[in-house]
Amino acid sequence: MTFDDIQGQGRAIGLLRRAIENGRLAHAFVFAGPAGVGKRATALALARAMLCPERPNVGCGTCIDCRLVGAGSHPDLFLEDLAAAQAERATATMLSIEQIRRVCAALSLRPIRGAGKVGIVDQAERLTAEAQNALLKTLEEPRGRATLVLVTSNLDALLPTIRSRCQRLLFAPLPDDLVATLLSREGVEDEIARRAAALAGGSLDRARELTSEDGWARCEALRNRLEQIDRLGIPERLDLAGELSPRGERNRAQQTLTTATVLELFRHGMLEAARGAAPGDHPEDDFTRLASARRAHRAMATVYASVRDLERNANANLAWDKLLLELGDRRG
Ligand SMILES: [Zn+2]
Repeated sequence: MTFDDIQGQGRAIGLLRRAIENGRLAHAFVFAGPAGVGKRATALALARAMLCPERPNVGCGTCIDCRLVGAGSHPDLFLEDLAAAQAERATATMLSIEQIRRVCAALSLRPIRGAGKVGIVDQAERLTAEAQNALLKTLEEPRGRATLVLVTSNLDALLPTIRSRCQRLLFAPLPDDLVATLLSREGVEDEIARRAAALAGGSLDRARELTSEDGWARCEALRNRLEQIDRLGIPERLDLAGELSPRGERNRAQQTLTTATVLELFRHGMLEAARGAAPGDHPEDDFTRLASARRAHRAMATVYASVRDLERNANANLAWDKLLLELGDRRG
């Protein structure tokens, strides 16, 4: 995959292309933006552009160097991520200081095959403070044609001293229609691709999770249950909250799917209610419609507040309890 193959990130790619062509590539970058929008793929495309002898500054995508980059085995490319941490220690949840020392040491040596060296630290939000401090020295003393790329979906997790020493490149969420097109190309049925894209918040990874084998079935099952929520009493609602919260689901992908499903359901509910609230012939019906639009609007506000809580890693169990108790509350 070269710069040409990356979709929906024209601004970031354009900036990198110009920098590399003008020989003004920064020694350190932070690629920041939502998960699943092409940040890591762009970092690898940059590595190809730097290391490809066939099409220097661009990357051909097919020569031995380009293929070695793709296979993660180019001697001038150093990639560290959570998978590498877990290969050393299966229970690892953070990137270790040893990984950072490895990248920094490698970048300080002369290139072996190519014209430069590239270090990529993916999931940089998982760097410990200790590991980030170990990075500082490399960032302060750049050498030769070496570029380090920190890839992260949470810029705030990086120390200000790190952020200030890197050129920041922001990656935008992908447009829904692009996500749908990419899913369709991967063989997903058009209608499902369109609906999954609407749920995915601009992330191709999330959209793929949603269209995975059991992802869509779970999504539909949850939607059916939520549509019945008005008929549930308090104990049943708390039971459902228990199933939806991390007590029942520890998997992050499933959690994302769950929140996305709840959000989409109420977004549709609000749109329907708003359509129904258009002026009609019978004033008494208008009043009913307006009341239902207001209810849907309140439900949306509740859902958004809960999503915010969940994203901030606030007490997720409490957030789900609150959400399920407030949703579909027909009073007023
Ligand atoms: Zn090449």
